[in-house]
Amino acid sequence: MEHIDAKLRQNEPMIIDSFVSNKCNLKCRHCYFGDARPISESVSLARWRSFLDEAIGMGMKHFHFSGKESFLDNRIFDILNLLAEYKEDRRIFYGVVSNGMSMDIQGYDEVLATNISYLEISLEGSGKYNDLIRGENGYNTVYELIENVEHRDKINITSTIFDDNGADLLSMLLAYWKLGVDKFNFAPIMYYSPFEMKPLKSLSCESLLGFVSLCLDFMNNDNSPDAIDIRICMTKAMAYELFLKENILTGKIEEYVYRGNKMKYQRGNKVLEFSYPLLSIPFLNELVVTHDGYIISCADDIHYKYLDKIALPNVNIVKNSFAEILQARNEFILCYLDKELS
Ligand code: SF4
Repeated sequence: MEHIDAKLRQNEPMIIDSFVSNKCNLKCRHCYFGDARPISESVSLARWRSFLDEAIGMGMKHFHFSGKESFLDNRIFDILNLLAEYKEDRRIFYGVVSNGMSMDIQGYDEVLATNISYLEISLEGSGKYNDLIRGENGYNTVYELIENVEHRDKINITSTIFDDNGADLLSMLLAYWKLGVDKFNFAPIMYYSPFEMKPLKSLSCESLLGFVSLCLDFMNNDNSPDAIDIRICMTKAMAYELFLKENILTGKIEEYVYRGNKMKYQRGNKVLEFSYPLLSIPFLNELVVTHDGYIISCADDIHYKYLDKIALPNVNIVKNSFAEILQARNEFILCYLDKELS
């Protein structure tokens, strides 16, 4: 409750994840943005600017730009320029997720040379596997990009764990580590219906454990990189199942739940860390702004056909300043807790 109280008082600011673009140049097989249709008008550049000004003014520090493909909408460059101006004195932290195939190498190089804190590139394994999911020649295009840009220390790679791509993900990781990338994020595949909020299905815990074992073998191998940062996230349902059935993660989950310790394995500078939303209270840690201005609590919710019914006030409605949005968020959380705890 202390943690929730601090969040509600904004002592611990949230991540603001914005979907500036409604375009993508790929058709990935697992994409949950694909069929999402705008409900309202797109947020104008002027409103993005005023929204971000207000959010920074209210103490928000972490700005993340994800789906669909941000660099296909020119407004992202104005927004990044705005944040670059704020970065020094307000100490904000911001980055963009990209498929690595929406601009030429020079375009990415120019973005990386700015004040941007990170560029997160999505890949799903080595050549054959990645290209099956993300389209022909994707792996080679991204490889060539990362091989040729400067500031590779700002790049991290994010991937989806499927039932059968574990070994492929590790060979991808090694190939990109050799190019100078040392941060990798992995999330389980989830399958959604547009008519349900909850996933219909997700990666099985057995497949997740299989991937964790592969990562541990990789870290313990003396020939693996001497410094690497691997993060694996899972759902709350997965963590609960893994907590109940004894396995290599049970002790880590127990230490996290009862002692607040981080769930991680570390060998020198090689780190394998896990996370899951222990307090999965909507809007507590994150506000996700869709390109048509709805504020939802999780990026995955974009798959839901009726997201206007689960959203906080739309940022397109001028009277909803950021302070009003925060107030609506706090009222929602108090109401939610009231129902959950009664
Ligand atoms: S790059 Fe992202 S938004 Fe585009 S199709 Fe793939 S998963 Fe969907």
